[in-house]
Amino acid sequence: MTMRNKLGLHGFVWEAGWNREQCARAIANTAALGYDLIEACALDPSSIDVDFTRRQLEAAGIGLTFSLGLASDADISSNDDDKTRRGEQTLAEIIAIARDLGATHVCGILYSAFQKYSIPTTAAGVARSVDVVRRIGEKAAASGITLGMEVVNRYETNVLNTASQGVEFCRRVGLANVKVHLDCYHMNIEEADVATAILETGPHLGYFHTGDSNRGYLGSGSIDFSRIFRALVRSGYEGPITFESFSSKVVGQPLEGILGIWRNLWEDGQDLSAHAKQFTEAHLKAAREAITHSQSSLV
Ligand code: MN
Repeated sequence: MTMRNKLGLHGFVWEAGWNREQCARAIANTAALGYDLIEACALDPSSIDVDFTRRQLEAAGIGLTFSLGLASDADISSNDDDKTRRGEQTLAEIIAIARDLGATHVCGILYSAFQKYSIPTTAAGVARSVDVVRRIGEKAAASGITLGMEVVNRYETNVLNTASQGVEFCRRVGLANVKVHLDCYHMNIEEADVATAILETGPHLGYFHTGDSNRGYLGSGSIDFSRIFRALVRSGYEGPITFESFSSKVVGQPLEGILGIWRNLWEDGQDLSAHAKQFTEAHLKAAREAITHSQSSLV
């Protein structure tokens, strides 16, 4: 009997920021739909009121994860000592907040800046990133936090664009709590075969984002979710599955510009997220049934 994956929802379906009102609404709305956790954006850690957030989470009875991408002046894959120091400081700060809030995962583009690079990364830059992530990973391990290295498309980093690069990076870090974070929106752009990439990531997978090819309603784009959920179930993945979608109705600049949100595919975050939960549960159930029956033998 496998454990049930926790289902998460990215806070950006509700609110662009995390002041008290936004935090309270995002957490209450997420819990009301029956999600197990909310993923909060940690791009601006100073905006997070730790005690207030903890009380909202406790009242709602849901968990928390964090995601972020490093700023270009805090790029730990650069050859710049000041940038690397700022990046390590940002990550350490987030780990401390995550610990105080009982967050289970900190994920995203933790290993480089979150930006469109115009040149390839370097071996020295990747080595530097591995070293910083190892030091941060040790801090995270002390608080029971898993780090997810999110593999994203070529327009958002030049370091980890494929699942196999993510596995190699985590092997080099060499810590049990530093894992690969896959997102099928990005995989759809970069992988030769999304399902095969999930299976090959295997036990290194520690976090999963769902999102369709257009980043709108699940099932409204061109991604084959049956194959993706079958691969997740077949690989024995038991971690969180979090739905991520963006609309300029909610997020403003600078994120709108970095992500290229020029067409709005939804305006009603409530309807979008209720649908995503039903869609995910139905696909997980179907995948489990498919795999159970494909494995049963003759009697
Ligand atoms: Mn993602």
